[in-house]
Amino acid sequence: IERKSQNLNTIIKQITPLIVSDTNKRDIELVMVLDKECPDLLLDDKEIKQLILNLVRNGLEAMSGHGTLTIETSVRDDMVHLFVKDCGCGIGKEYLNKIFDPFFTTKANGTGLGLSVCAGIVRRHAGTIQVQSEAGQGTKFTIVFPTKTD
Ligand code: ADP
Ligand code: MG
Repeated sequence: IERKSQNLNTIIKQITPLIVSDTNKRDIELVMVLDKECPDLLLDDKEIKQLILNLVRNGLEAMSGHGTLTIETSVRDDMVHLFVKDCGCGIGKEYLNKIFDPFFTTKANGTGLGLSVCAGIVRRHAGTIQVQSEAGQGTKFTIVFPTKTD
């Protein structure tokens, strides 16, 4: 892990073309709300890109046909929050405590590795990852990064 002081919004903008090419292939609207007040954080940009792309891919896979995918950054209580939200199939309550386990998948061709990789990336950044989901309504992942201490 190679962390350096940089801005989460900048990293998100760098992968936006990749995300747009996926949302444009389908009838999916991409909403980005990036908080200009985000302070720089100690981040490994390659890992953060992988984190966001894994969450985005899951969100797209959860939405059949059309829908909205939202990527949001927000400073709250001096901490940087990242939200990745879809309005897809949602996650059944019985699975909510399993989704971060390696190899847990509900997909015919899933590896079940995406979210366990995400959890590792967040852990290496001393952050937290949480999920809120409503079956049939959608899913929202919230990642909270600690503010830089140096
Ligand atoms: P995979 O995508 O290969 O199945 P992941 O680790 O990325 O593996 O996700 C594990 C499981 O968590 C998925 O199979 C799915 O059941 C559930 N899941 C993750 N993200 C979402 C989401 N945005 N909407 C609905 N279900 C999700
Ligand atoms: Mg996945």
